[in-house]
Amino acid sequence: MDNASQRCGRPNARLLAVSKTRSAAAIAAMAACGQQAFGENYVQEALPKIEALRGLGLEWHLIGHLQSNKAEQAAVAFDWVQTLDRLKLVTALAKHRPDSLSPLNVLIQVNIDDEASKSGCHPDEVAALAVAITHEPRLHLRGLMAIPAPAPDMQRRRSAFRAMTALFTAVHMRHPGIDTLSMGMSEDFVAAIEEGATMVRIGSALFGARQPKTEPAA
Ligand SMILES: *Cc1c(COP(=O)(O)O)cnc(C)c1O
Repeated sequence: MDNASQRCGRPNARLLAVSKTRSAAAIAAMAACGQQAFGENYVQEALPKIEALRGLGLEWHLIGHLQSNKAEQAAVAFDWVQTLDRLKLVTALAKHRPDSLSPLNVLIQVNIDDEASKSGCHPDEVAALAVAITHEPRLHLRGLMAIPAPAPDMQRRRSAFRAMTALFTAVHMRHPGIDTLSMGMSEDFVAAIEEGATMVRIGSALFGARQPKTEPAA
């Protein structure tokens, strides 16, 4: 894969700080340490934080499942949407991305191995989605994202990461401008980077454990 990791001869991935459940003050403290990119799961939770921290020039990524009726708010408030997984969202995000902002960066979320999850498209759908995105001037296709099933067995996760890297390489041949493969979280980011991630999404390993609560998928 032609990415920065290979050119440098060693793994090298961008860090996305996952700030769901964290206060604006906690995010500001991390931004003061030099962290610029933050990931949020819920549009409703993110909007007030984005507003409160507007002066800091941070980069906001939506990493949670996006309902179509929230696409307008997401297209206005976020810099990246990592969870584009269906044609309907391509149209909705493109329609609502304001002309005053640069094109919205998007990743196609792929359901690489989690039969139980309703988020993410099937790997076979990626090629058509990628073409649809490149036809929209208000969207900028940056790459792929995946959340492999939480398997205790690290080999299973590695094979999911490897499958994503193969898919990324295939999409890159058609769309050489893409540069981002977002995969790996606190528990498995080392394996993800070794298998080809260019961006890891880290929450608890940065901010500390979240309050234990069941997090809805949406
Ligand atoms: C919560 C979340 C993360 C971060 O998880 P940690 O285990 O806290 O690092 C990464 N990606 C997505 C999509 C998430 O929902």
